[in-house]
Amino acid sequence: MSSHGKDTPMADHHLLKKTPVDLGRLSLSEWDELAEHLDIMPGILQRIRRAVFLQGIPSLSRMDDLPSDVRQKLAGKVILHDSRLKSLTRSSDGSLKLTLLLHDDHLAETVIIPERKEGSIKKCAVSISSQVGCFFGCSFCATGQMGFNRNLSTRELADQVRLAIRTAEEEKIAPVTHLYFMGMGEPMHNYRAVSDLITLIESGEAPGPDPSRITISTVGLYRQIGMLASDHPKVKLAVSIHSANQEKRKEIMPISARLPLADIRQAIARHQRLTGHRVTLQYLLLDGVNDSPDDAAALVRFIGNLNINITLIMYNDVAGCRVRRTDIEKMESFRNVLVRAGHPVDVRWCRGEDIFAGCGQLQVSASRKRTNMSIRSNATDRQPDAGS
Ligand code: SF4
Repeated sequence: MSSHGKDTPMADHHLLKKTPVDLGRLSLSEWDELAEHLDIMPGILQRIRRAVFLQGIPSLSRMDDLPSDVRQKLAGKVILHDSRLKSLTRSSDGSLKLTLLLHDDHLAETVIIPERKEGSIKKCAVSISSQVGCFFGCSFCATGQMGFNRNLSTRELADQVRLAIRTAEEEKIAPVTHLYFMGMGEPMHNYRAVSDLITLIESGEAPGPDPSRITISTVGLYRQIGMLASDHPKVKLAVSIHSANQEKRKEIMPISARLPLADIRQAIARHQRLTGHRVTLQYLLLDGVNDSPDDAAALVRFIGNLNINITLIMYNDVAGCRVRRTDIEKMESFRNVLVRAGHPVDVRWCRGEDIFAGCGQLQVSASRKRTNMSIRSNATDRQPDAGS
Protein backbone atom coordinates (compact mmCIF):
# COMPACT_ATOMS: atom_id res chain seq x y z
CA MET A 1 0.00 0.00 0.00
CA SER A 2 1.36 3.43 -0.87
CA SER A 3 1.82 5.89 1.93
CA HIS A 4 1.24 9.38 0.66
CA GLY A 5 0.14 10.03 4.24
CA LYS A 6 3.78 9.96 5.30
CA ASP A 7 4.26 13.31 3.57
CA THR A 8 1.04 14.80 4.88
CA PRO A 9 0.37 15.77 8.47
CA MET A 10 -2.26 13.26 9.66
CA ALA A 11 -4.75 15.86 10.85
CA ASP A 12 -4.70 17.46 7.38
CA HIS A 13 -6.67 14.67 5.78
CA HIS A 14 -10.25 15.73 5.12
CA LEU A 15 -11.65 12.66 6.90
CA LEU A 16 -9.75 13.64 10.04
CA LYS A 17 -10.80 17.28 10.09
CA LYS A 18 -13.35 16.44 12.79
CA THR A 19 -12.35 13.63 15.12
CA PRO A 20 -13.17 11.09 16.36
CA VAL A 21 -14.47 9.66 13.09
CA ASP A 22 -17.30 7.10 13.36
CA LEU A 23 -15.81 4.07 11.58
CA GLY A 24 -19.23 2.44 11.23
CA ARG A 25 -20.52 5.39 9.20
CA LEU A 26 -17.56 5.67 6.78
CA SER A 27 -18.10 4.41 3.25
CA LEU A 28 -15.88 1.57 2.10
CA SER A 29 -13.96 3.92 -0.17
CA GLU A 30 -13.39 6.21 2.83
CA TRP A 31 -12.08 3.21 4.80
CA ASP A 32 -9.56 2.63 2.00
CA GLU A 33 -8.68 6.31 1.86
CA LEU A 34 -8.12 6.48 5.61
CA ALA A 35 -6.04 3.29 5.60
CA GLU A 36 -3.88 4.64 2.81
CA HIS A 37 -3.42 7.92 4.61
CA LEU A 38 -2.47 6.20 7.87
CA ASP A 39 -0.42 3.58 6.05
CA ILE A 40 -2.39 0.60 7.33
CA MET A 41 -1.80 -2.59 5.36
CA PRO A 42 -4.78 -4.18 3.53
CA GLY A 43 -4.65 -7.36 5.66
CA ILE A 44 -4.88 -5.35 8.89
CA LEU A 45 -7.64 -3.19 7.42
CA GLN A 46 -9.65 -6.29 6.61
CA ARG A 47 -9.12 -7.59 10.14
CA ILE A 48 -10.44 -4.30 11.57
CA ARG A 49 -13.47 -4.37 9.28
CA ARG A 50 -14.31 -7.95 10.30
CA ALA A 51 -14.07 -6.96 13.97
CA VAL A 52 -16.28 -3.89 13.42
CA PHE A 53 -18.99 -5.32 11.15
CA LEU A 54 -18.89 -9.10 11.60
CA GLN A 55 -18.12 -9.36 15.31
CA GLY A 56 -19.63 -6.01 16.28
CA ILE A 57 -16.94 -5.00 18.78
CA PRO A 58 -17.92 -1.92 20.81
CA SER A 59 -14.40 -0.46 20.73
CA LEU A 60 -11.07 -1.13 19.02
CA SER A 61 -9.60 -1.75 22.48
CA ARG A 62 -11.42 -5.13 22.27
CA MET A 63 -9.30 -6.15 19.29
CA ASP A 64 -6.53 -8.28 20.76
CA ASP A 65 -4.79 -8.87 17.45
CA LEU A 66 -4.47 -5.21 16.44
CA PRO A 67 -0.74 -4.36 16.04
CA SER A 68 0.34 -1.73 18.55
CA ASP A 69 1.58 0.74 15.90
CA VAL A 70 -1.85 0.66 14.19
CA ARG A 71 -3.57 1.03 17.56
CA GLN A 72 -1.44 4.12 18.14
CA LYS A 73 -2.20 5.57 14.72
CA LEU A 74 -5.94 5.21 15.31
CA ALA A 75 -5.99 6.30 18.96
CA GLY A 76 -8.26 9.32 19.46
CA LYS A 77 -9.02 9.55 15.74
CA VAL A 78 -11.75 6.94 15.40
CA ILE A 79 -14.73 5.79 17.42
CA LEU A 80 -17.26 2.95 17.24
CA HIS A 81 -20.94 3.08 18.13
CA ASP A 82 -22.72 -0.16 18.81
CA SER A 83 -26.44 -0.89 18.97
CA ARG A 84 -28.02 -2.64 21.95
CA LEU A 85 -30.99 -4.94 22.01
CA LYS A 86 -33.59 -2.98 23.97
CA SER A 87 -36.56 -5.33 23.70
CA LEU A 88 -37.83 -8.45 22.06
CA THR A 89 -41.54 -8.86 21.25
CA ARG A 90 -43.06 -12.19 20.27
CA SER A 91 -45.99 -12.51 17.91
CA SER A 92 -48.52 -15.33 18.16
CA ASP A 93 -47.60 -16.25 14.56
CA GLY A 94 -43.96 -16.93 15.51
CA SER A 95 -42.47 -13.63 14.26
CA LEU A 96 -40.19 -11.71 16.59
CA LYS A 97 -39.62 -7.98 16.67
CA LEU A 98 -36.27 -6.68 17.94
CA THR A 99 -36.06 -3.07 19.02
CA LEU A 100 -32.50 -1.76 18.97
CA LEU A 101 -31.29 1.22 20.93
CA LEU A 102 -28.85 3.28 18.88
CA HIS A 103 -26.05 5.40 20.31
CA ASP A 104 -28.03 8.63 19.95
CA ASP A 105 -31.17 7.24 21.65
CA HIS A 106 -32.98 6.60 18.38
CA LEU A 107 -34.53 3.19 17.93
CA ALA A 108 -34.50 0.80 14.99
CA GLU A 109 -36.73 -2.21 14.49
CA THR A 110 -35.82 -5.57 13.00
CA VAL A 111 -38.21 -8.46 12.43
CA ILE A 112 -37.45 -12.19 12.33
CA ILE A 113 -39.98 -14.06 10.21
CA PRO A 114 -39.87 -17.86 10.30
CA GLU A 115 -41.92 -19.49 7.55
CA ARG A 116 -43.41 -22.91 8.26
CA LYS A 117 -44.53 -25.48 5.77
CA GLU A 118 -46.01 -28.80 6.79
CA GLY A 119 -45.02 -28.26 10.40
CA SER A 120 -41.34 -27.40 9.93
CA ILE A 121 -39.56 -24.12 9.27
CA LYS A 122 -38.53 -23.89 5.63
CA LYS A 123 -37.16 -20.39 5.65
CA CYS A 124 -36.19 -17.82 8.27
CA ALA A 125 -36.04 -14.26 7.01
CA VAL A 126 -34.81 -11.15 8.73
CA SER A 127 -36.23 -7.81 7.70
CA ILE A 128 -34.05 -4.86 8.67
CA SER A 129 -34.62 -1.11 8.81
CA SER A 130 -32.50 1.24 6.74
CA GLN A 131 -33.46 4.62 8.20
CA VAL A 132 -34.85 6.15 11.38
CA GLY A 133 -38.24 7.26 10.09
CA CYS A 134 -38.78 7.86 6.40
CA PHE A 135 -38.88 10.85 4.10
CA PHE A 136 -41.58 9.55 1.78
CA GLY A 137 -44.77 9.67 3.87
CA CYS A 138 -46.80 6.94 2.17
CA SER A 139 -50.45 7.19 3.17
CA PHE A 140 -50.66 3.69 4.66
CA CYS A 141 -47.37 3.62 6.55
CA ALA A 142 -46.69 4.19 10.23
CA THR A 143 -42.98 4.80 9.57
CA GLY A 144 -43.89 7.50 7.07
CA GLN A 145 -45.85 9.29 9.79
CA MET A 146 -42.64 9.70 11.80
CA GLY A 147 -40.96 11.89 9.18
CA PHE A 148 -37.28 11.39 8.41
CA ASN A 149 -34.68 11.49 11.17
CA ARG A 150 -31.54 10.01 9.71
CA ASN A 151 -29.96 7.23 7.71
CA LEU A 152 -28.68 4.20 9.56
CA SER A 153 -24.94 3.63 9.25
CA THR A 154 -23.42 0.52 7.69
CA ARG A 155 -22.52 -0.62 11.20
CA GLU A 156 -26.12 -0.14 12.39
CA LEU A 157 -27.35 -2.23 9.45
CA ALA A 158 -24.81 -4.96 10.27
CA ASP A 159 -25.77 -4.79 13.98
CA GLN A 160 -29.39 -5.56 13.08
CA VAL A 161 -28.41 -8.61 11.05
CA ARG A 162 -25.98 -9.88 13.69
CA LEU A 163 -28.40 -9.43 16.59
CA ALA A 164 -31.19 -11.09 14.59
CA ILE A 165 -28.98 -14.08 13.72
CA ARG A 166 -27.97 -14.39 17.38
CA THR A 167 -31.57 -14.09 18.58
CA ALA A 168 -32.84 -16.67 16.07
CA GLU A 169 -30.13 -19.00 17.38
CA GLU A 170 -30.82 -18.34 21.07
CA GLU A 171 -34.57 -18.71 20.58
CA LYS A 172 -33.89 -21.94 18.67
CA ILE A 173 -35.97 -20.73 15.72
CA ALA A 174 -33.84 -21.71 12.72
CA PRO A 175 -30.72 -20.42 10.99
CA VAL A 176 -31.41 -17.16 9.16
CA THR A 177 -31.68 -17.94 5.45
CA HIS A 178 -32.90 -14.68 3.90
CA LEU A 179 -32.35 -10.98 4.41
CA TYR A 180 -34.91 -8.37 3.41
CA PHE A 181 -34.47 -4.62 3.35
CA MET A 182 -38.15 -4.04 4.09
CA GLY A 183 -38.19 -2.49 7.57
CA MET A 184 -38.38 1.19 8.48
CA GLY A 185 -37.25 3.59 5.77
CA GLU A 186 -36.51 3.38 2.06
CA PRO A 187 -33.27 1.40 1.54
CA MET A 188 -32.54 2.98 -1.84
CA HIS A 189 -32.62 6.41 -0.16
CA ASN A 190 -29.69 5.16 1.95
CA TYR A 191 -28.11 3.38 -0.99
CA ARG A 192 -24.46 3.84 -0.07
CA ALA A 193 -24.70 2.19 3.36
CA VAL A 194 -26.98 -0.58 2.05
CA SER A 195 -24.67 -1.28 -0.88
CA ASP A 196 -21.61 -1.28 1.41
CA LEU A 197 -23.25 -3.79 3.76
CA ILE A 198 -23.95 -6.13 0.83
CA THR A 199 -20.33 -5.76 -0.34
CA LEU A 200 -19.15 -6.64 3.19
CA ILE A 201 -21.48 -9.66 3.32
CA GLU A 202 -20.12 -10.77 -0.06
CA SER A 203 -16.55 -10.60 1.23
CA GLY A 204 -17.37 -12.32 4.53
CA GLU A 205 -16.71 -9.14 6.52
CA ALA A 206 -20.31 -8.70 7.72
CA PRO A 207 -22.99 -11.17 8.79
CA GLY A 208 -25.71 -12.20 6.36
CA PRO A 209 -26.81 -14.83 3.86
CA ASP A 210 -25.55 -15.19 0.31
CA PRO A 211 -26.52 -12.09 -1.74
CA SER A 212 -28.81 -14.27 -3.88
CA ARG A 213 -30.98 -14.51 -0.76
CA ILE A 214 -31.09 -10.77 -0.18
CA THR A 215 -34.05 -8.71 -1.41
CA ILE A 216 -34.28 -4.94 -1.52
CA SER A 217 -37.71 -3.38 -1.59
CA THR A 218 -38.14 0.10 -3.02
CA VAL A 219 -40.86 2.58 -3.88
CA GLY A 220 -39.21 2.74 -7.30
CA LEU A 221 -36.12 4.97 -7.06
CA TYR A 222 -35.16 4.16 -10.62
CA ARG A 223 -31.61 5.51 -10.62
CA GLN A 224 -30.68 3.36 -7.64
CA ILE A 225 -32.39 0.35 -9.26
CA GLY A 226 -29.90 0.83 -12.10
CA MET A 227 -26.99 1.08 -9.65
CA LEU A 228 -28.12 -2.06 -7.82
CA ALA A 229 -28.22 -4.09 -11.03
CA SER A 230 -24.60 -3.15 -11.78
CA ASP A 231 -23.22 -3.24 -8.21
CA HIS A 232 -25.00 -6.34 -6.88
CA PRO A 233 -26.45 -8.44 -9.71
CA LYS A 234 -27.22 -11.38 -7.37
CA VAL A 235 -29.48 -9.30 -5.13
CA LYS A 236 -33.23 -9.52 -5.80
CA LEU A 237 -35.43 -6.50 -6.34
CA ALA A 238 -38.99 -5.88 -5.16
CA VAL A 239 -40.80 -2.74 -6.29
CA SER A 240 -43.80 -1.42 -4.36
CA ILE A 241 -46.16 -0.32 -7.10
CA HIS A 242 -49.49 -0.12 -5.21
CA SER A 243 -51.13 1.50 -8.26
CA ALA A 244 -50.41 1.57 -11.99
CA ASN A 245 -52.28 4.85 -12.30
CA GLN A 246 -49.90 7.79 -11.83
CA GLU A 247 -52.47 10.11 -10.21
CA LYS A 248 -53.77 7.45 -7.86
CA ARG A 249 -50.23 6.41 -7.00
CA LYS A 250 -49.43 9.99 -6.03
CA GLU A 251 -52.29 9.89 -3.53
CA ILE A 252 -51.01 6.67 -2.01
CA MET A 253 -47.30 7.49 -2.24
CA PRO A 254 -46.53 11.21 -2.58
CA ILE A 255 -43.01 10.42 -3.83
CA SER A 256 -44.65 9.20 -7.06
CA ALA A 257 -44.86 12.83 -8.18
CA ARG A 258 -41.11 12.53 -8.77
CA LEU A 259 -41.14 8.97 -10.04
CA PRO A 260 -42.94 8.58 -13.36
CA LEU A 261 -44.24 5.03 -13.81
CA ALA A 262 -42.63 4.91 -17.26
CA ASP A 263 -39.17 5.47 -15.71
CA ILE A 264 -39.80 2.81 -13.07
CA ARG A 265 -40.90 0.33 -15.73
CA GLN A 266 -37.80 1.05 -17.79
CA ALA A 267 -35.59 0.50 -14.73
CA ILE A 268 -37.33 -2.82 -13.98
CA ALA A 269 -36.85 -3.98 -17.58
CA ARG A 270 -33.17 -3.01 -17.46
CA HIS A 271 -32.68 -4.74 -14.10
CA GLN A 272 -34.18 -7.88 -15.55
CA ARG A 273 -31.97 -7.69 -18.64
CA LEU A 274 -28.78 -7.20 -16.62
CA THR A 275 -29.43 -9.69 -13.82
CA GLY A 276 -31.71 -12.29 -15.35
CA HIS A 277 -33.95 -12.17 -12.24
CA ARG A 278 -37.69 -11.84 -12.15
CA VAL A 279 -38.52 -8.63 -10.32
CA THR A 280 -41.33 -8.80 -7.76
CA LEU A 281 -44.06 -6.17 -7.93
CA GLN A 282 -45.62 -5.61 -4.53
CA TYR A 283 -49.18 -4.35 -4.50
CA LEU A 284 -50.82 -3.40 -1.22
CA LEU A 285 -54.58 -3.73 -1.61
CA LEU A 286 -56.42 -0.83 0.00
CA ASP A 287 -60.17 -0.87 0.30
CA GLY A 288 -61.86 1.37 -2.27
CA VAL A 289 -58.53 2.97 -3.24
CA ASN A 290 -56.68 0.65 -5.63
CA ASP A 291 -58.55 -2.66 -5.52
CA SER A 292 -61.10 -2.45 -8.38
CA PRO A 293 -61.05 -4.58 -11.56
CA ASP A 294 -60.04 -1.38 -13.43
CA ASP A 295 -57.04 -1.05 -11.12
CA ALA A 296 -56.11 -4.66 -11.86
CA ALA A 297 -56.44 -4.03 -15.60
CA ALA A 298 -54.19 -0.95 -15.29
CA LEU A 299 -51.60 -3.14 -13.55
CA VAL A 300 -51.78 -5.70 -16.36
CA ARG A 301 -51.20 -2.91 -18.91
CA PHE A 302 -48.25 -1.58 -16.88
CA ILE A 303 -46.66 -5.04 -16.75
CA GLY A 304 -47.03 -5.65 -20.49
CA ASN A 305 -44.35 -8.16 -21.44
CA LEU A 306 -42.27 -7.82 -18.25
CA ASN A 307 -41.40 -11.15 -16.68
CA ILE A 308 -42.40 -10.47 -13.09
CA ASN A 309 -43.87 -12.00 -9.94
CA ILE A 310 -46.73 -10.19 -8.29
CA THR A 311 -47.25 -10.16 -4.55
CA LEU A 312 -50.60 -8.88 -3.40
CA ILE A 313 -50.34 -7.71 0.19
CA MET A 314 -53.19 -7.76 2.65
CA TYR A 315 -52.68 -4.64 4.73
CA ASN A 316 -52.47 -4.36 8.50
CA ASP A 317 -54.65 -1.41 9.48
CA VAL A 318 -52.53 1.31 11.08
CA ALA A 319 -53.86 3.76 13.66
CA GLY A 320 -53.78 7.29 12.27
CA CYS A 321 -53.92 6.14 8.61
CA ARG A 322 -57.26 6.53 6.83
CA VAL A 323 -56.79 3.59 4.48
CA ARG A 324 -58.17 0.13 5.27
CA ARG A 325 -57.60 -3.49 4.26
CA THR A 326 -59.42 -4.83 1.22
CA ASP A 327 -61.89 -7.65 1.84
CA ILE A 328 -61.16 -11.15 0.61
CA GLU A 329 -63.74 -11.15 -2.22
CA LYS A 330 -62.22 -8.04 -3.77
CA MET A 331 -58.74 -9.47 -3.40
CA GLU A 332 -59.87 -12.66 -5.17
CA SER A 333 -61.36 -10.81 -8.13
CA PHE A 334 -58.27 -8.58 -8.37
CA ARG A 335 -56.07 -11.67 -8.37
CA ASN A 336 -58.21 -13.37 -11.03
CA VAL A 337 -57.63 -10.50 -13.47
CA LEU A 338 -53.86 -10.94 -13.07
CA VAL A 339 -53.97 -14.72 -13.26
CA ARG A 340 -56.11 -14.59 -16.42
CA ALA A 341 -53.44 -12.34 -17.94
CA GLY A 342 -50.90 -15.10 -17.25
CA HIS A 343 -48.99 -13.60 -14.33
CA PRO A 344 -47.80 -15.53 -11.27
CA VAL A 345 -49.49 -14.09 -8.17
CA ASP A 346 -48.83 -14.67 -4.46
CA VAL A 347 -50.95 -13.25 -1.70
CA ARG A 348 -49.09 -12.21 1.41
CA TRP A 349 -50.82 -11.78 4.71
CA CYS A 350 -48.72 -9.49 6.85
CA ARG A 351 -46.97 -11.28 9.65
CA GLY A 352 -46.53 -9.97 13.19
CA GLU A 353 -49.70 -7.87 13.14
CA ASP A 354 -50.23 -8.25 16.89
CA ILE A 355 -46.75 -6.86 17.65
CA PHE A 356 -46.94 -4.04 15.08
CA ALA A 357 -44.25 -5.68 12.97
CA GLY A 358 -46.29 -6.12 9.79
CA CYS A 359 -46.38 -4.20 6.53
CA GLY A 360 -46.30 -0.48 7.17
CA GLN A 361 -46.62 -0.88 10.94
CA LEU A 362 -43.07 -0.28 12.09
CA GLN A 363 -42.96 2.95 13.99
CA VAL A 364 -40.80 3.35 17.02
CA SER A 365 -42.88 5.59 19.21
CA ALA A 366 -40.03 5.93 21.65
CA SER A 367 -37.79 7.43 18.98
CA ARG A 368 -37.88 10.73 20.71
CA LYS A 369 -37.09 13.05 17.86
CA ARG A 370 -40.00 13.23 15.49
CA THR A 371 -39.47 15.54 12.59
CA ASN A 372 -41.39 17.35 9.93
CA MET A 373 -38.85 16.34 7.31
CA SER A 374 -40.87 14.48 4.73
CA ILE A 375 -41.75 14.71 1.09
CA ARG A 376 -44.99 16.43 2.04
CA SER A 377 -42.95 19.43 3.21
CA ASN A 378 -40.36 19.32 0.39
CA ALA A 379 -41.98 19.94 -2.94
CA THR A 380 -39.65 19.38 -5.88
CA ASP A 381 -39.94 17.22 -8.95
CA ARG A 382 -36.50 15.63 -8.68
CA GLN A 383 -35.96 11.99 -7.87
CA PRO A 384 -34.35 11.83 -4.39
CA ASP A 385 -30.68 10.94 -4.40
CA ALA A 386 -29.07 7.93 -2.82
CA GLY A 387 -28.54 9.55 0.57
CA SER A 388 -25.25 9.68 2.41
S1 SF4 B 1 -43.82 2.50 2.84
FE1 SF4 B 1 -41.60 2.58 2.80
S2 SF4 B 1 -41.16 4.40 1.55
FE2 SF4 B 1 -43.31 4.60 2.16
S3 SF4 B 1 -43.24 5.83 4.04
FE3 SF4 B 1 -43.19 3.66 4.65
S4 SF4 B 1 -41.04 3.19 4.90
FE4 SF4 B 1 -41.19 5.06 3.68
